[in-house]
Amino acid sequence: MSVFELPRLVKKLPTSEKNLWHRIYAVDVLDGKLELISGMRSWVEKKFGSVEEVENQKILRVTNLITGEGALFNNLRGKRPMTYFSEQDLDSLVEKHRQNCPFCSPEDRTPEDSFGRVRGEYCITAANLTKYDGYHSLVIPREHHPLRFNEDMVGDYFRVAARWFRKVKAYTNPEGGRDMALYPFLMWNCLWPAGSSVVHGHLQLTVTPKRHYSRVEQLRQCSMKYARHYGSDYFRDLYDLYQALGLGWTEEKTRLLSILTPVKEKEVWILPPPVHANLDKLELVGRAVCRVLNRLQQQTGLQSFNVAVYLPPLAGEAIAGDWRNFPIMARLVDRGDVFNRTADFGAMELFATTVISSNPFTVAGLIRP
Ligand SMILES: [Zn+2]
Repeated sequence: MSVFELPRLVKKLPTSEKNLWHRIYAVDVLDGKLELISGMRSWVEKKFGSVEEVENQKILRVTNLITGEGALFNNLRGKRPMTYFSEQDLDSLVEKHRQNCPFCSPEDRTPEDSFGRVRGEYCITAANLTKYDGYHSLVIPREHHPLRFNEDMVGDYFRVAARWFRKVKAYTNPEGGRDMALYPFLMWNCLWPAGSSVVHGHLQLTVTPKRHYSRVEQLRQCSMKYARHYGSDYFRDLYDLYQALGLGWTEEKTRLLSILTPVKEKEVWILPPPVHANLDKLELVGRAVCRVLNRLQQQTGLQSFNVAVYLPPLAGEAIAGDWRNFPIMARLVDRGDVFNRTADFGAMELFATTVISSNPFTVAGLIRP
């Protein structure tokens, strides 16, 4: 199934899901025409497979009317000629970075938090040397290779993250003290295209006071506005719609969605059961994240990725507003080939909307068990 078949697919949806579609999304199919000059035809045929397809391009624009998220799809973009770095063997490059790797001896070569370290079965925490928030630390796996992990390991990384968040809460709001609103955030950037500067795998944890990070808060505000206007839960409606489209499914009590307005290639959302959204759910989220990453590794040779987990406040819910209906959610994107010199983010992504070459239906097919 191609994303370009969406308009046809929407027409066939049952009435309730069709209504949800028109409430949440708008889709436009755009024609991109050009005339190839004669000298280019054979080169275009070799690079893109079809002269006809390049001369009459189809672009699909998807807009989420509730949140303002949007994406432009054109699968030809993924076939553009690129320049690559000359070094091409990732495993030997990762091995080279093992020498003198500070994260291979974290107890001796990384700073620790004022409240000490959290130790797990497969990882340990360290304070981040250059913080971007008041609380900003790392979960450092014992495994050096950033792409070698299994469900038990990632489950442990996320469980240690939950313990670290609880330590921050106890440290900031000691017994008897007035609770200050604290917002936890977990992220995992793997290798250079994803913005990671250290090769050895690591996850990052932050806690920010008073209000959540802007993107998280923006999504929460949109979902609350939706609930007020339509009297139903945005995330539940979104999942029902995705399920009807074949882009959403449940696996081990966790809902997965292959997103139609991805912030970058192959965006997947992972939502644990919505009841009692709290830190106890993190291990479950970690295991689900690992399954998706492992499938993308097996199916597409995934090398570089970003994962982020949206979490409710650790304390001070009353002053922080209503978080009851906001789910814990992990968002995951593929950041492409580590040897590609061309970044996948340009002015369009920074200032306008995202341009995507992957197809959400193919992504669903790749990661659905
Ligand atoms: Zn290392």
